Amino acid sequence: MNKFLFVDLDDTLFTSLPKCGADDVLEPVAFLKDGAPISYTNGRQRAFIEHFAAGMTMIPATARNRDALGRVRLPFTSYQIIDYGGIVLAPDGAPDPVWLARMGDDMATALPGLRRAMAVIDAYAERAGLAMRARLIEDYGLPFYVVVKDPDKRSERLDPVEAEAVLPWLADEGQDFCLHRNGNNLAIMPQRLNKVRAVEYVQARLREQHGAIMTFGMGDSRSDARFMAACDYAIIPRGTQLAALTVEAL
Ligand SMILES: [Mg+2]
Repeated sequence: MNKFLFVDLDDTLFTSLPKCGADDVLEPVAFLKDGAPISYTNGRQRAFIEHFAAGMTMIPATARNRDALGRVRLPFTSYQIIDYGGIVLAPDGAPDPVWLARMGDDMATALPGLRRAMAVIDAYAERAGLAMRARLIEDYGLPFYVVVKDPDKRSERLDPVEAEAVLPWLADEGQDFCLHRNGNNLAIMPQRLNKVRAVEYVQARLREQHGAIMTFGMGDSRSDARFMAACDYAIIPRGTQLAALTVEAL
């Protein structure tokens, strides 16, 4: 039976330097636009990748866009789910046209709400004297989600933005949207944009090609849980947000 690992990338297969352990033997695996390394694997992560890549096909399921995925040095050969599920790349690297058309419709519906969310966040930040500004994340000409980060990486500065601007908006006019928060990363997503939809789409394509398949899902964030639950087995790295909410909490 063909086996597939649907896997988040950042903080799952590799980590940025501040989160790496002091004793880890690090190798750079993801790079900035200027070529400088930004994320690294430790020995265990490299052993994990080597072991799983030998036994199954690895399919990334990442919030990275095409450009940022291209700066990850890992050998992906099959489908690739990027933009938080907004784009599915076929094994030849081109966007899957069926998925692209579906998301084109969904994101056109979502765009006015995304613009409104940005306005709400920016107005709050300005009133509160915060330097952060909301950004609209786009890829392949489609708008996908809104993200705001503190420019000094002081993630606690996002707490009042979340509590006093984002949550009230979501409860009122933003009911077709949801919040994803992990550290210095606050994202507002259309409900129709999520990794699980894209994972289930790719699983259906793979079943057409291979018949019965076995699937693993792996991720570090609360927001990865839904796509992991759509797989036969779930793998959660120790010390992550999702581990703290699940196995470590129990
Ligand atoms: Mg992650």
